[in-house]
Amino acid sequence: MDLKTIQRIKKGMKDPGIGPETIALMPTRICSLRCFYCRGGRFVHWQEDTDCSDELSTQELFNLFLDAKKLGVKEINLGGVVGEPFCRKDILLILAKIKELGFMGSMTTNGFALNRDTADFLTRHKWDILLLSFDSSDSRIQHTLRPAFSGESYFERILEFLQTLNSLRSKVRVLLNVVITKINYRKFPELMKFANSYKNIESVNVLKLLNAGLPNYELLQLNTGELNEFREILSEFKKDKKIRYRNDWFEKNDAAACCADPLKEGVSERSCFTNYYILSIDSNGDIIKCPQNWVKVAGLNVKDTPLSKLWEKEHLSFRRGLVKGAACFDGCCTILKEQNRMIRGRL
Ligand code: SF4
Ligand code: SF4
Repeated sequence: MDLKTIQRIKKGMKDPGIGPETIALMPTRICSLRCFYCRGGRFVHWQEDTDCSDELSTQELFNLFLDAKKLGVKEINLGGVVGEPFCRKDILLILAKIKELGFMGSMTTNGFALNRDTADFLTRHKWDILLLSFDSSDSRIQHTLRPAFSGESYFERILEFLQTLNSLRSKVRVLLNVVITKINYRKFPELMKFANSYKNIESVNVLKLLNAGLPNYELLQLNTGELNEFREILSEFKKDKKIRYRNDWFEKNDAAACCADPLKEGVSERSCFTNYYILSIDSNGDIIKCPQNWVKVAGLNVKDTPLSKLWEKEHLSFRRGLVKGAACFDGCCTILKEQNRMIRGRL
């Protein structure tokens, strides 16, 4: 998080005219895969006849983007906690519009729809960042952890996508998100070799499997011995600039650190400023509490009321409440927790 963002948060806390820096938008709840660790409640998967009537229409999304532009939003991030953006039939129109309006475009994808054509499209439209859920460079492991709903193999198409980016000298930045489990942790060196063989792969984000009530959590989570083994494996890549993982990856909980710095007036050790820089919106237009805690904020929907109006009206309520103290702070993900502490320290 840079100082400019922190300055913007400071101003935004006083001035309702200043919007968030990023909109995290979940374009659809439909998905083409059925991953082992899909985080609960995603019972709609890709089918030709899936009903999407509750989702924001193309025009409603375009209106949202125009409104976001007025609020000074810089980045539109497509993803959310469930669903695959490429499952929307109008996804290419959406991506093109985001870039036409001058936003930075980032998107999380499961890779199912990637191929030569998508590589060409994203390159031509100067798409910025693609966060690709990619757990193994071994196609069998990838298809075991993240099988397609249709049973189809899609791994080769990901390779085709990456090769095309390379041959087009594309500027699209690909960030791999790797969830570490019992099934893939020993194959991590091969994955790093794979990542280093493609210029567009900028980083490998090593992610912990989160226990969000998953039925398969115990089957997949590393035990202490495996965790130690993985620590050794990771240490071999200490100097690899592509690798990204939190320093506390091997700690059970970091709650103690949260009270480390002195508190300013009106700020608590559990202050959450997230909504002053990332605003999360569900596929039906509901405003969501935050990217980590995907629950709707009652009465706020961009389908019914333009974002700028909501932003103004809402300025003193749910975001203010979270700055006073978020009950969910201890259970928050490390990245957001750290960002919140950093903001708190610089207010
Ligand atoms: S890609 Fe995401 S939404 Fe789709 S099944 Fe996997 S975890 Fe769930
Ligand atoms: S503390 Fe974390 S989980 Fe709670 S509202 Fe803030 S970002 Fe979300």
